[in-house]
Formats: sequence, C-alpha cells, structure tokens
Amino acid sequence: MEDIAQFFLEKLMIDERYGIAKPVDDQTLLLPRFLNTLEVCVDIYKQKYPNQSVTFAETYRSNSLQYKYFQQGASKIKADGMHHYGIAADSIFIINGKRTYKGDVMLLRKIYVDNGLTILGMWDALHVQLIPVGQQMQLRNAVSSKIKAFQNQQGIPVTGLVDDITVAKARSVFS
Ligand SMILES: [Zn+2]
Repeated sequence: MEDIAQFFLEKLMIDERYGIAKPVDDQTLLLPRFLNTLEVCVDIYKQKYPNQSVTFAETYRSNSLQYKYFQQGASKIKADGMHHYGIAADSIFIINGKRTYKGDVMLLRKIYVDNGLTILGMWDALHVQLIPVGQQMQLRNAVSSKIKAFQNQQGIPVTGLVDDITVAKARSVFS
C-alpha cells in the first residue's frame, strides 16, 4: 500500500493529465511493479498465441472521467477507482495489427490470476488490477494519510485532499 500511495503523491497527482476527462493509455502512469507483472502476463499469453499480443486501452483514469463513466452506466464507481491510483488497466488484444476484444479472454484472465493480480466479473472481463477488491478502501485511506502527512510536513492546510495548494507544493518538491 505504501508504495502505491507514494506513487500517487509523487507521480500521478502532479501529472498534467491528473484531471483529464479523456481516456489515457500511457503505461508510465502505472505503478512500476504492477506494469512489470502485466508484462510478464503478456509474455505468457504470447507464448500460447505467438501471432497475438495484448496491450492496454486504458491505464490511469481521472475522477472526472470516472464520473462520466458512472453517469453513462459504464461503471459502478463514482470516484477513486483503482485506475485512479495507477494500479488498474483495461486489456485489449492486438491481432493482425488491429486492436480487438476477440482474443482468448479466459486464458488472459487465468494468467492474471495465476500471477497474483485481481480480475473482476465478466461484466468487466478485461479489467485487471493489482490489489483485491477487499483492500480498496484500505488503499484510499493510505493515500489520504500520505497526502495529510505531506501537507503537515510542508506546513500547508491538512485536508487529505488533492487541492491546488497541495499539487503546487508537490510539484515543487517532486518534479
Ligand atoms: Zn478497468
């Protein structure tokens, strides 16, 4: 949890795409140890299907986009989903050079689970995340605590929220 919260503070919160209302597929916005595991999983998939590959249609997701998805009925979560912390990704296959959902979904899901990752139900079949659903609230609390500790350390109001003064301070410290 600690490294996820630190990554959020140092990298995601100060990124210019933090509030972007469009899908982002930049893999550098994923926690490195999560990305490493995804790469291992993709390699295993490619051993079975040498003519296919797997990439990620969405990595980081802002809360404004998350809320848009919620309003559209595309997501059950209003804010602070696991994509927001750089520890979730939505897989998509590449077959004959084209992005498609028609790969071996069940095999890919099995590979994710075998490698310690968490998948959701078939209603979100190609979503994969680092931590179990039962630990999500604990993560949100850890991030809030991390932000509070940073605010306290920097002598700015301790809100636990990603407000403008906190982002400005974090940018000056971490970038
Ligand atoms: Zn997802």
